[in-house]
Amino acid sequence: MATQSKAQFLTDVYTLLRRRYKPKGEQDSARLSVLKAVVYGICHEDTTRENANQALSRFKDGYFDWNEVRVSDIDEIRESLAGIPDPEERAKRIRKFLRQLFNRTYGFNLDALVKKPLKEALKVLQTYEAFASDYVTATVIQQALGGHAIPVDHETHRALERLGITEATIPELRAVLERAVPKNRGAEFLDLIEDLANDTCVAVDPDCPRCELRKICPYALARKEQDAAARSAAKTRPSKEREKEIEPPSPAHAHEPGPSPTASPKKSSPPRTAKEPPPVKPSPRGKQGSK
Ligand code: SF4
Repeated sequence: MATQSKAQFLTDVYTLLRRRYKPKGEQDSARLSVLKAVVYGICHEDTTRENANQALSRFKDGYFDWNEVRVSDIDEIRESLAGIPDPEERAKRIRKFLRQLFNRTYGFNLDALVKKPLKEALKVLQTYEAFASDYVTATVIQQALGGHAIPVDHETHRALERLGITEATIPELRAVLERAVPKNRGAEFLDLIEDLANDTCVAVDPDCPRCELRKICPYALARKEQDAAARSAAKTRPSKEREKEIEPPSPAHAHEPGPSPTASPKKSSPPRTAKEPPPVKPSPRGKQGSK
């Protein structure tokens, strides 16, 4: 898909999704601090923003400050990540980031980076292990540094892939999205794709008939064609089965007496079993609709 047509397609996706998932007014336009954006990114990847926001609230309410989180057991930090997949792994990443930050700066404030040019700020941040994740990097650019970034995790990637927006790597896919979706829509576009991925475009058996994008989504259109082909195959099957019913008699009948004593001797041998048609191959229909 050319860049221009991708941009138009993604505009259509945005417009249609906006109809269904109306802006909830929950989006806090205020930026996060760089530190909070890192923790938010770690918490948000492959789960909902509600879960990530709840985790941030628990850190705020359950700890005196980030230093207390830094010196806490992994099991304690995990409790703040209730409802989020892989809480232990995420707790380790959060604590490791806080430890790296403290060891380098003796504090928990990275907000001086906000005043630096984006590239310069990223150069500093990418020395922290947490930034090995492209999702965390993009979240910090979007939520704290004021840049244009659209973080892509497995959930949003799945929905975009079904919509035909694919690239070899996540950073490449992100670059395509960031060119096609204007900055002032970036955060909302991401929220809408996330809503889609958690509502109808789920991992197993997407609910295309209920999806607002079913008329423009290549996956849904292909699925519809397959279903139509399967229905048409199902309609023709009974007549084939009827044909089968009037096929030559089974081997048991081959030994019955011939129809007429005047019949040629050739007709009585060899037995009919030698001329039976090969077994009917299984219908290809079983494979259809498996997508
Ligand atoms: S139509 Fe189906 S596959 Fe396409 S985005 Fe919607 S739920 Fe996903």
